[in-house]
Amino acid sequence: MADRERAPGAVRQITSLTNPLVKDIRALAMKKAREETGRFIGEGLKLVTDALEENWPIAAIAYAPAVRDQPHVAKAAAAVRARGGDVLEMGEAVLAKITHRDNPQMVVGVFGQRLKPLAEVKVGEGEVWVALEQVRDPGNLGTIIRTVDSVGAKGVILVGETCDPFSFETVRATMGSLFHVPLVKTGRDAFLAWAKGAGVRLVGTHLKATHDYRKIESRAPTVLVMGNEQAGMTEDMTRACDVRVKIPMAGRADSLNLAVATGVMLYELRRGQLS
Ligand code: SAM
Repeated sequence: MADRERAPGAVRQITSLTNPLVKDIRALAMKKAREETGRFIGEGLKLVTDALEENWPIAAIAYAPAVRDQPHVAKAAAAVRARGGDVLEMGEAVLAKITHRDNPQMVVGVFGQRLKPLAEVKVGEGEVWVALEQVRDPGNLGTIIRTVDSVGAKGVILVGETCDPFSFETVRATMGSLFHVPLVKTGRDAFLAWAKGAGVRLVGTHLKATHDYRKIESRAPTVLVMGNEQAGMTEDMTRACDVRVKIPMAGRADSLNLAVATGVMLYELRRGQLS
């Protein structure tokens, strides 16, 4: 069936799996296409609403005809259109194709990527940022972004080669927090130079540390540093930390999962600020 495309600004109805727009959006599942276009996709009305609230660049909203008349969907579509984005109505088969899922969400958004330059990061008294060195697992990264948002920490700095914060899996795991938590990407040397100049305290987490994580008591501007899932923190990073702490463990596990360890640390560092 041919697509019926209307005037710009109107809802475009897309029924064909071979429509070029479908192809372009579907390609965003691949990192290369995300890098080339500076875009990414996320599923669910909540994500679209979170992005709109935070004024994120939004290129398109796509939804299934079944939800067209739901007030929140109509409101989100009007907001996307008002910002010059495309409004696309797609059958569920087409949505399944662009999300690579058998049971797609009824609403999908196409967003612009946004990263904060490291030089703009200022860490205040009592504030906490998280630095993740070479994080590899998209689910861990998404969970950490969501936890950072939950505890009122200020942002996440991705150090070195890391997984893509704009992949499907990461975006899904953030549950919308991606739009509320500033993200920075940098190399290790640049990060360490910045930390020195910014006067932040680097609190590193290390399995061989002897300092108990419950004994860090200052409200100094803090960056919590977490290591890679397999290898932990690099030696350079470990050495550069002002304090290295361990979360004691009682059983036979070698270590905690990265996202869990980050959650435990963040709740400790933010203990005085949460009621
Ligand atoms: N084999 C790795 C190692 O020897 O470091 C395990 C890395 S662990 C799965 C991933 C990251 O989680 C660590 O680099 C550290 O940041 C944090 N982590 C996990 N368990 C921890 C614990 N008990 N104490 C402190 N940090 C921990």
